[in-house]
Amino acid sequence: MTVAYFTHPSSAQHEMGSHHPECPDRVRVINDHLRANGLLDFMREETAPVATREVIMRAHSAELLDALEEISPQHGYAGIDGDTTMNPHTMSAVLHAVGAAVRAVDLVCTGEVQRAFCNIRPPGHHAERNRAMGFCFLNSAAIAVLHALEAHGLQRVALVDFDVHHGNGSEDILVEECNAGRVLMVSTFQHHLYPGTGDRPMADNMVNVPLTAYTKGDAMRAAVTDRWLPALHEFKPELIVISAGFDAHRDDDLASLGWVEADYRWLTQQLVAVANLYSNGCIVSTLEGGYSLGALARSVGEHVKVLIGAD
Ligand SMILES: [Zn+2]
Repeated sequence: MTVAYFTHPSSAQHEMGSHHPECPDRVRVINDHLRANGLLDFMREETAPVATREVIMRAHSAELLDALEEISPQHGYAGIDGDTTMNPHTMSAVLHAVGAAVRAVDLVCTGEVQRAFCNIRPPGHHAERNRAMGFCFLNSAAIAVLHALEAHGLQRVALVDFDVHHGNGSEDILVEECNAGRVLMVSTFQHHLYPGTGDRPMADNMVNVPLTAYTKGDAMRAAVTDRWLPALHEFKPELIVISAGFDAHRDDDLASLGWVEADYRWLTQQLVAVANLYSNGCIVSTLEGGYSLGALARSVGEHVKVLIGAD
């Protein structure tokens, strides 16, 4: 099996201030962990290209794209919201993060690779069609889903989001495709955590499972077994795109769930099993949150081990 691994130097240049948890070290520790544990030996390393405006505008408005380019600073910082800031490298990092997910879809859909993991930042799943927010600027995962449908002619794509925060942006962008039956979204998130959405799904083909604060991996496993898997088996996705956030880990300070590395391994195993049944094993996974650096690196390591078939 061939699994692509996407990175880009711009992921380490976008930063939002010295104490911001969504920091360049996130991609560095993941890369170090994968390399130190020999996992990169089993992957095909790829440099992320820049996403085109045409591809991005399947998911986002011209107004948002133009506003980001206009706000983008030559020096210092430019604020989007209280938590979300641009520096001179942000736009490059965003365009390469989207480009990684889109190129990953191209490689998977043409059979060049079976799976891909994109170790890129900034994350994307809070970015709505018309709004950047919550550390996110453009929604890489949602753009990847639409690219698979529009450029590769797929009929059914599943978006799986296990970040601890609800993916409001993905819901906003994909609501029409969910209603049309071309996209299924399944997600878990901590109830009432930022951004406070998700309790009521916006479309039929959205399976949102809020998890109660201070619950552990067994609550997630029950949600996946009872809610996600029946929906995925009924939908029979031709491709699974993962918004892979690792901030439900018990060490993560931005949330209060108690998942551990073994939970990410188990969860990835379930998704690989679905992919093996319906999509020739095809999965594109792209990094979202995860802010406890050691836990992030180890959890991604477990996720990647399963993706490359080593576990
Ligand atoms: Zn998150």
